[in-house]
Amino acid sequence: MDIKGSGELQICHSQLHQATTKSPEMAALKIVNFLERPKKATIKVYVIQQKSEDEYLVADDSQLANLIAMEGFKKGRKHLNTLSYLRVILPALTSRDNTIYLDDDSTLVPCGPFSTVPVEHGEGTAAKLKSGSLDTPLETVRGFSPGDVVGSILVKIVKMSEAKKVGRSSVARATIKDISGSKTCLSLWNEKAKVVKEGSVYRIKHTKVDNFPPNESPKHLSTTFRSTFKEEEGSDFEAISIVDERREGVCVGVSDFFFYASCPHCFKKLHDDIKKCQHCGNDVDIAREDFKCEVNLQEGEEIHQFIAFKRVLDEVVSESNDLAEDMATTERRINEYLEDQHLSLEVLNQGNSKKIVHSVLILPTGDANFSASQDDYMME
Ligand SMILES: [Zn+2]
Repeated sequence: MDIKGSGELQICHSQLHQATTKSPEMAALKIVNFLERPKKATIKVYVIQQKSEDEYLVADDSQLANLIAMEGFKKGRKHLNTLSYLRVILPALTSRDNTIYLDDDSTLVPCGPFSTVPVEHGEGTAAKLKSGSLDTPLETVRGFSPGDVVGSILVKIVKMSEAKKVGRSSVARATIKDISGSKTCLSLWNEKAKVVKEGSVYRIKHTKVDNFPPNESPKHLSTTFRSTFKEEEGSDFEAISIVDERREGVCVGVSDFFFYASCPHCFKKLHDDIKKCQHCGNDVDIAREDFKCEVNLQEGEEIHQFIAFKRVLDEVVSESNDLAEDMATTERRINEYLEDQHLSLEVLNQGNSKKIVHSVLILPTGDANFSASQDDYMME
């Protein structure tokens, strides 16, 4: 390697082998120490993972390092995407850590792939990729901006919707969760929807952060034509499901009823007198008479509200099925039925902090927890 001669860092094969036998941190530190006159150097890197808004994990042919965009760094910032090859011109380097800093003197330009071993096939990096340590947690993706490319995620498809036509394309929406239970939505475009199935775990590479929903985080992810899917063994994900949390408490009332006509296929609210659902596009012969309401649940000292739809209450309140002569009677029947009942709720958390009841179970009154909460309630 001749840094001073070419002004560019290129690791040859023998050094690749040597480097990967050490920890990546040590090896990357070695890079930095080599650069005695950093202002004359450029470094070619491959961006593997975005670790936070300004920090990236990068590698050259042989080893890993951190890349940090400092305040003031602007030139070529738009090229800083995962899975891209970049040349860093005038990086700020220190020998203290394995980090390449970008400051207001630095410039980033796109470059071609490395002429030697592609980084993903390098021994050390491949092992890390295989062990999943380079998968980006969805919690980290939450901080990304629209257009950012997400290198690799390991997720379970906890819910999959039917594909919808959008112009000449089709898109199916999947709810995905990673091992920590963090979730987001993934739009699967065209044939990408056919390669995944609900309940399975996949390592998905090269998705892009959407600009939707506009004012919420996390933004949805979208497949691109470069996205790849690899089904992984999912035993670690056994406990991961669509349900975000389980709550228990005593029902102290059901309020805020809203009655509406819904689609018999997708259960979404229909515009008046509509013959074709505006959400799923299916024909509507007979609309459902539907409602949503809020279950007020006393959990210890506090009362919390959970949004419940008719179809969920139908599972436990037989009377709700037979919609009474008028709405007031429906409200009264449901309240009479659930009053003081000890409920176990499976809950879905929505981005806007609303909590939706996914399923409800009435617990037997002999339950020990029930007695405790019931006593609290009676003392009020
Ligand atoms: Zn519909």
